[in-house]
Amino acid sequence: MDFQNLSQQKPDSGQRSPEDALKQVFGYERFRPLQEEIVRTVIAGDNALVLMPTGGGKSLCYQIPALVRPGTAIVISPLIALMQDQVAALRQLGVRAAFLNSTMDMQQAWATENALMTGELDLLYCAPERLLQPRTLELLHQASISLFAIDEAHCVSQWGHDFRSDYLGLDLLAHEFAQVPRIALTATADERTRQEIAQRLSLVDARHFISGFDRPNIQYRITPKTNANKQLLDFIKEEHKDDAGIVYCLSRNKVEATARMLCDNGYNALPYHAGLSAEERASNQERFLREDGVIVVATIAFGMGIDKPDVRFVAHLDLPKSLEAYYQETGRAGRDGNASTAWMVYGLQDVIKLRQMLEGSPGNETFKRIERQKMDAMLGLCEVISCRRQVLLRYFGDALEQPCGNCDTCLTPPQTWDGTVAVQKALSCVYRTGQRFGVTYLIDVLRGSENDRIRQSGHHQISTYGIGDELSANEWKSVFRQLVANGYLRADPEGYGALQLTPECRPLLRGEAEVLLRKDPVQKNEGRKRGRSAASEHVSDPQGWEALRGCRKRLAEEQGVPPYVIFHDATL
Ligand code: ADP
Ligand code: MG
Repeated sequence: MDFQNLSQQKPDSGQRSPEDALKQVFGYERFRPLQEEIVRTVIAGDNALVLMPTGGGKSLCYQIPALVRPGTAIVISPLIALMQDQVAALRQLGVRAAFLNSTMDMQQAWATENALMTGELDLLYCAPERLLQPRTLELLHQASISLFAIDEAHCVSQWGHDFRSDYLGLDLLAHEFAQVPRIALTATADERTRQEIAQRLSLVDARHFISGFDRPNIQYRITPKTNANKQLLDFIKEEHKDDAGIVYCLSRNKVEATARMLCDNGYNALPYHAGLSAEERASNQERFLREDGVIVVATIAFGMGIDKPDVRFVAHLDLPKSLEAYYQETGRAGRDGNASTAWMVYGLQDVIKLRQMLEGSPGNETFKRIERQKMDAMLGLCEVISCRRQVLLRYFGDALEQPCGNCDTCLTPPQTWDGTVAVQKALSCVYRTGQRFGVTYLIDVLRGSENDRIRQSGHHQISTYGIGDELSANEWKSVFRQLVANGYLRADPEGYGALQLTPECRPLLRGEAEVLLRKDPVQKNEGRKRGRSAASEHVSDPQGWEALRGCRKRLAEEQGVPPYVIFHDATL
């Protein structure tokens, strides 16, 4: 690396204002909302936790303080490609930036370290594992450090979708460099992730900056999968004929096949996945960035940090594994603020495939439980009948007062069924079992399953036992997912998978409100199992389950009030 060519001299600290840096170095007229406050906080030497959607402008939040404060800013970034792009872009602007990572040989690394020690760098990008090496830490102690920026900070969280164990070690910065301000930045953080980031990076006392997650120029559309290729071709042909776009698929094979299929149909489509050579990936990414109207067909390996403003559509041929992933991937569309489409087809097969991948993955049981919940939230978004944007934003703790009027559910209201009674049954089952159980167990209770767990808990004796055999287990799952997606139920914060009631469900439990649920189109392909097939095959009933179920129903009839309507309870 040739540091002599980094001609721009760093101005004396304090002489350049953040506004000057914004205009003179980056060429922007004004700060975006929150950027200015964040920049001032860090310049003042305070810690910050920044939540801003993809494309929101997080980089400036540490790049400007890096130019204003004396010393070198250390930027921790998880991806080498991302690091290289950012450094290249900064150097074009005349900023003295460099990176340290495993792609460099000894000599290059040494030159960079030397530049750090002699104060010739404004920013040094560094992979977390590199930063945590004793040698690097020792150098940092001797250098003058202006701030630490921890980019993609959700990598520290198991709730986030990109967990990296190296990020856990970054907590030591808080203790070893207590006087240096730290700023952590992420686009993906629901409440739990946010808490976890704050705790694991010792940023509990930091100022939190949360900017709106709404991307009003993105239209969200989710359709049941019938013939995915044809659906995709129709969509592109009718709405995005010459546009740049990203098509996400789950597997490398499908990426290759889909890219070929698009090329056969006259589109300029390129594959991108981890199985390609580094050169091929770099070249495909480069063409996507530079040429007009290129479609990249990719696995999730593609995209982090891709800054192409005019991506007009993001299409998903497979279900992402969480809302965080969905939001981040769709967020790559329309960074320039112009109308763009987030389009997806999904089917029950997707769910099964994702579940299988998860169950076969090496993660421990806690990890899998969390991932299962995230998948359910994703499916919940597919199944809502209300505004998708509202549901998506609610998940991230952001509110949208009115339905957006632009997503598919707003434009074409989906077919529904009156789920009032089913919902009352589901909610009262949660209530009567003490808000301590997950979906599978609750459905077992509702459908009157005969198992030891139920008998041991005594839940075969409660009034919601066996009152829900009119729906199949899968239909109940859809009911529960919709309840979670609509905010009537939430998963317990500890992550055990138990469902808990929210204040929103009070009127439903009292029988004072009606609920419409989406007719679940993905159910059609599946063999429906209605009723308790196992029970009906039982000739004898030694444990008396059948009698119990009968008893519940009789009781309900005698009382005249369904057992699933709960009128008053101090705790509700
Ligand atoms: P993030 O890291 O939040 O996804 P980036 O920092 O990569 O977003 O910024 C996204 C885009 O917004 C970039 O092209 C960046 O140059 C642009 N940008 C950021 N701040 C401003 C600003 N104040 N004015 C104009 N453009 C900006
Ligand atoms: Mg970024």
